[in-house]
Amino acid sequence: MKIVRYDGGRIGLLQDDLVYDASEFLGDDPAAWPPTGVVQLIAKFDALKPGLEKLLKGTGKPLASVRLDAPLVWPHKLLAYPVNYLAHGHEMNSKNRANINGFFMKSNSSISGPNDPIVLPDVPSREIHHECELGLIIGKRGRHIELADAMDYVFGYCCLIDCTVRGNEERVMRKSYDTFTPIGPAIVTKDEVLDYTNIGMKLWVNDVLKQDANTRDLLVDIPNMITIASSVLTLEPGDLFATGTPAGVGPIKAGDKVRIEIEGVGKMEIPVIQGEGGYNIAIKKEEVK
Ligand code: MN
Repeated sequence: MKIVRYDGGRIGLLQDDLVYDASEFLGDDPAAWPPTGVVQLIAKFDALKPGLEKLLKGTGKPLASVRLDAPLVWPHKLLAYPVNYLAHGHEMNSKNRANINGFFMKSNSSISGPNDPIVLPDVPSREIHHECELGLIIGKRGRHIELADAMDYVFGYCCLIDCTVRGNEERVMRKSYDTFTPIGPAIVTKDEVLDYTNIGMKLWVNDVLKQDANTRDLLVDIPNMITIASSVLTLEPGDLFATGTPAGVGPIKAGDKVRIEIEGVGKMEIPVIQGEGGYNIAIKKEEVK
């Protein structure tokens, strides 16, 4: 099943380029704040699934006639694994490795959708990089999850771009700008992804292929990511993982179009625009400008 949000926060199901509204069935108010409807859906999915499947027998709207929003905007946590592909560690001359460093976190509010531009901060001396990543969504609450049980806690997957300002500020600051985590176009439930150890992913900037990788090369694989994170904190339905970027990261600038495609998960193309502000004013201006 493919779960989307669209037209200002309505929840829908996507099938064969048609969107089937689920907000009414779920009793979800698209204008409600905080917008936790999809988190609730994930938490109650097993009970809701038969009803959702019935919706797919109804009438759908053409995908082209709706505006897709981020499929998940209010997860309890947005976790991320750094340098989870060896070749990316080499290209960054970094000794960081996900199997040594564990996970970090990004601000949940950095999440944006498949039709939202990446808005660059005004930090002209810095490179701002794209990172092509598989997004992993947790389906049920768990702490100290055993490796053998870890996949039971997966709800599904999405495309995810982890945008990053390079520099010396804390990683959480450099990765937490609004719009720095585009996700989408849908949340694809795990049953639609045949082999999580063999998911191909690609990212292009302006139609030039920059990243081309496969989850078989993850240093910390999906079950280990879940077990490690849950040894520290309680995972909740809807928690989102950025699973790490492969090699090929590079700068993006205003006017670029960043396209990500993940096998069995989907694709989206995100424009990049220039925003204002966002530099670290505590750094001497001459270093920034
Ligand atoms: Mn990343």
